[in-house]
Amino acid sequence: MKQELEEQHDFVKEVTKMSDDFDRWYTDVVRKAELADWSGIRGMMVVRPYGWAMWEAITRAFDDMIKESGHENWAFPLLIPREYLLKEAEHIEGFAPEVAWVTRAGGSMDELEEPLAVRPTSETIIGPLIKRYIQSHRDLPKLTNQWNSVVRWEMRSRLFLRSREFWWQEGHTFHASAAEAIDEAQMILGYYRSIAEDWLAVPVLAGRKSPAETFPGAVHTLTVEGLMKDTLALQMGTSHYFGQNFARAYDISFSNKQNERELCYSTSWGISTRLVGALVMAHGDDSGLIVPPKVAPVQVVVVPIYRDQEGQAKVERFIAEWAPGLKRAGIRHRVDWRDERPGDKYAHWELKGVPLRLNVGARDADAGQVEMVDRLTRQKTPVPVGGLAERLARELDDFQRRLYERAVKFQRDNTYELGTPDEVIAHFRDKGGFAWTGWCGEAEEEARIKGEAGGVTIRVIDDEAKPSGKCAVCGRPAKLRVALAKAY
Ligand SMILES: [Zn+2]
Repeated sequence: MKQELEEQHDFVKEVTKMSDDFDRWYTDVVRKAELADWSGIRGMMVVRPYGWAMWEAITRAFDDMIKESGHENWAFPLLIPREYLLKEAEHIEGFAPEVAWVTRAGGSMDELEEPLAVRPTSETIIGPLIKRYIQSHRDLPKLTNQWNSVVRWEMRSRLFLRSREFWWQEGHTFHASAAEAIDEAQMILGYYRSIAEDWLAVPVLAGRKSPAETFPGAVHTLTVEGLMKDTLALQMGTSHYFGQNFARAYDISFSNKQNERELCYSTSWGISTRLVGALVMAHGDDSGLIVPPKVAPVQVVVVPIYRDQEGQAKVERFIAEWAPGLKRAGIRHRVDWRDERPGDKYAHWELKGVPLRLNVGARDADAGQVEMVDRLTRQKTPVPVGGLAERLARELDDFQRRLYERAVKFQRDNTYELGTPDEVIAHFRDKGGFAWTGWCGEAEEEARIKGEAGGVTIRVIDDEAKPSGKCAVCGRPAKLRVALAKAY
């Protein structure tokens, strides 16, 4: 229903106020700021250049991290034979409802002998193929990653958060020992935390998923969870330890140092274009986006202000004096010469969330300065053009830090300690955020609290913390400390 509604609108005239309707605000901003759009193919989105550039910044940062620790990229087929997919029972059971199948091909649309699945994730095609490349412990570890898109036949869709095709990276690693694979999954979680916090300026809770939320076929799943401005949690990246489950299903073994055959230990992990949605929902406001400088396609926009051709020529000459210096300093900037009124340009770039705007008029040219406007505080500051690039670089760092601190404060203000089932139910009746509680670990209770508290789930188990007190569901002694939230 929601999707039909969204897809009917060809373009957004006005952005709905965040406080009026968060969901509507989100879709309006994503479309009007030209991040993404519906394609006309049901549930499938187009990521537009401005949104894709943010994803590219994320991919570059993460790709650097994994290359640094010895991972290599490669590419596997889009289509997976049915027999491969069916081998890991738990995995296929988890994904079956979302798999799309190719059943016909060729000019006369002949039925295929065996249907091929469009990958919902690639464990089941990598498993049977990678065993060719692993014979001995000397071939391990195999640290691999691929950048691709996957298809999951979702019935509800939302730009970036839930669409039938999305873009991501999927890491797959194979190890000679459990300890090494467990460490790998943990290390990647650290990278994800860094992407969320250092790049997207979104503070996260990092920890282990509950059994009900564990990836199908995994021994354990680690996650980073951010808090959006509507106080719902968003899973921003997951890292899975498989033990020998996938190796057993696909017979991926190696001869160990004692010259015995042993099954590999494996991991997989992914972050996706959903992260672009995360930065929208974690930082935006009624005027639109606020993009963290580190992933901003445009960090600084220059708006020339003039009345006539003479004024325009003067402003143009002035900008030409210092703009090349910004480029040399690696500051992603754009001079907006479009034939629009300055006020419209301001609104345009505010909507797009550009961190810093420089207003430049003839009088500024005479004074050798620009007027810097901060998207976060809306403060206007005159800045001399001498040393402008260095100043802007500092300002952008500072902006990134302030944006993160604001999000940390928001997370702190929306984090609670709850003790009893009644408290949990009462809390989530009219509030969101993260609620830390004790939990005895009984799986049935997880389903019960979800039902009774309106879709609340265990987002993270904090294995570092010593649980104290009682389980917030049954009142028995708590064995685990967990964060509850309503989530996307
Ligand atoms: Zn309990």
